[in-house]
Order: sequence, then structure tokens, then C-alpha cells
Amino acid sequence: MSNHGPGERTMRAIRVDEHGGPEVLRTVVVPRPEPGPGQVAVDVTHVALNHLDLWVRRGVPGHRFPLPLIPGSDVAGVRADTGQPVVLHPGFGCMACPRCLSGRHDLCRRYIIRGERGDGGMCERVVVPEAELLPIPAGMDPAHAAALPLALLTAWHMLRTRAGIAPGDRVLVQAGASGVGVMAIQIAKLCGARVVATASSPDKRELCRALGAEHAWSYEDAATGVRDWTGKEGVDIAVDHVGAATWPLSLRALRWGGTYVTCGATAGHEVALDLRAVFFKQLSVLGSTMGGMGELCDAWKAVQAGAIRPVVDRVGRMSALGEAHALLEDRAIAGKIVVRQDLGEEA
Ligand SMILES: [Zn+2]
Repeated sequence: MSNHGPGERTMRAIRVDEHGGPEVLRTVVVPRPEPGPGQVAVDVTHVALNHLDLWVRRGVPGHRFPLPLIPGSDVAGVRADTGQPVVLHPGFGCMACPRCLSGRHDLCRRYIIRGERGDGGMCERVVVPEAELLPIPAGMDPAHAAALPLALLTAWHMLRTRAGIAPGDRVLVQAGASGVGVMAIQIAKLCGARVVATASSPDKRELCRALGAEHAWSYEDAATGVRDWTGKEGVDIAVDHVGAATWPLSLRALRWGGTYVTCGATAGHEVALDLRAVFFKQLSVLGSTMGGMGELCDAWKAVQAGAIRPVVDRVGRMSALGEAHALLEDRAIAGKIVVRQDLGEEA
């Protein structure tokens, strides 16, 4: 890092120059972005972590991230022009292709997730088109607001757009205390569905129940739990982002004609699939990534109405981002971990 503090035209940022352990999260001084026509400068106050941040830092075999890269997908801050607290859409399309024009930005070949395919919010200021802003509801802690966008959009798209959730559906949410899990439980409830969840510890299972899950089981107890809960029929929808570790349970938990929907594979991405089970039981196995910007606008109405609440485990410091990464890697987090932007406060 430079010995000199940032001047008028520079700012501090956390940047990944090469993949590796937490030590590659270095504070650097970079040019400070200035807004052009139609753009707004946002002074960053908080950024929430996602599992994606770990992939960006570590690297993924066979995938090239555009390094050097400023990570951070879930950004909260203050509009420099009006002082309005805002969060940013975590992903956006080219706004010109047929997919974008139909509202499916998530299918755009030039879709960008902030902090993954373009610079993110682990810095003092970002400049974005005004269309990428969502107002933080009055009275909501910006640290909590930062915890919402990516996981909220992901779970909303999985359940509503992909799985077509309907009132009365029975839904199994695997890893219900994860960032996506706490959103999936609440969205399913909001849609009039009945929910059960899995989680690894008693505290996490208690959180799932507090959010509206009728039951929350350990992974070991879940198969029996689902069987008892559904009278051997099985669930309508299994929401899963754990991957290989939970895949057999998720598939077995489905009723005939049921739907498995995945948005990630944090614990292994290669699984065995017996096609006979798929066709004979008429299962749907669906993939899901992010969602359209209109979907997040819809989901944000539920946030503003108080029907979906953020779940923040703890708030750390951006200047100690490696510590937050370690907590997320240890699966020590229920809900989200957020960092407060303190880069200008360093000695
Ligand atoms: Zn596009």
C-alpha cells in the first residue's frame, strides 16, 4: 500500500491481484471514480459477503476472473448527490440485447455480477447508472440492508421464476441458515408455501424456525423428518445450493413430479444421477443464477413492506476483510457477515 493517503482524485480499495488465501486481499490506492451523465456516485458504507467472494479470492479451475478485481457484490452506501441511503443491484445486463429487453438480464451473455466480472464495492466510492440503485427503507440499518440484494434476488428467482412456487406447496430448504437459505424460507412463506429446513447446529435450526420453518432438522435427521412431515409423499420443491453433500437427500425428498432447484455447489459440484428416477418420478432438475433486475425490484417491495428481513450474524471491518472471509469459510455464520467500510480510517 502507498505511504501516502488518498488525495482528491484517489481512493482506497481492497483488490485481488492474484488468487490465493486471505493475504491476497490487499488495500491499494486507485483513481477515484467520478460520475458521468446518468451516473451517480455512491459513498460505500457497508458490503456483505457472499460465497462468491471466496471463489473470486481463491480462483476457480477453468474459470478466468478479470484480475485485478475489486470484490464485493452486495453494496450499501449513500448517494453523494442527495444523501439518500441506497443498496446496489448486484448484477446487471447490457440493457441492449433481446434477453435484457425482455427483462431477463440474468440470461444476457454480457451479464455482470458486481465484484465477479467487474469491480465491486470493497472500496470507498462506486459510480453506477442511476437504474442500479434501490433505496434503503427508512429506519433500516444500512449494514442490514447490505445483506439483502444478492441472496434475496437469488432465492426469489429460484423459487418464483424457476420453480414456480404456489400457495400450499411444501418446500425443503437445504442449509436454511445460509445467506440464500434465510431468504428462501421467508420468500416461500410469503408465497403461502409450507417450509422445512436443514441446518448443521441447534442455533441455526432455531433461526430457521424463527423465520417460519415448521421444522428444522440436522442433515442426518432430514430424510426421516421429510417422510414424517409429508406422509411419505415428499416435498414439492427442494431448494439446494450445498451440492454433492445434500444432493441425494434433496432428490429423495421430492414427491413424484417435484422440483429440485440449485443455485450453487459449495460442497461439491459432481453428483450421480439415476435418469430412471428423473423420468419415472417425472422430476424437474433446475439450475438458477441471480435474476432479472425487475425481479429484485419486486422483491424489494416485500422488504419495504417489512415482509422480508435481513439476517446479519455480525458486522466486521472492511480493512480486516480476511477475517470475515475466514469466518465464512469456517461456516461459522448464520445469515450474513457484513463489513463496514473503514478504509479511510486506517492509521
Ligand atoms: Zn443483455
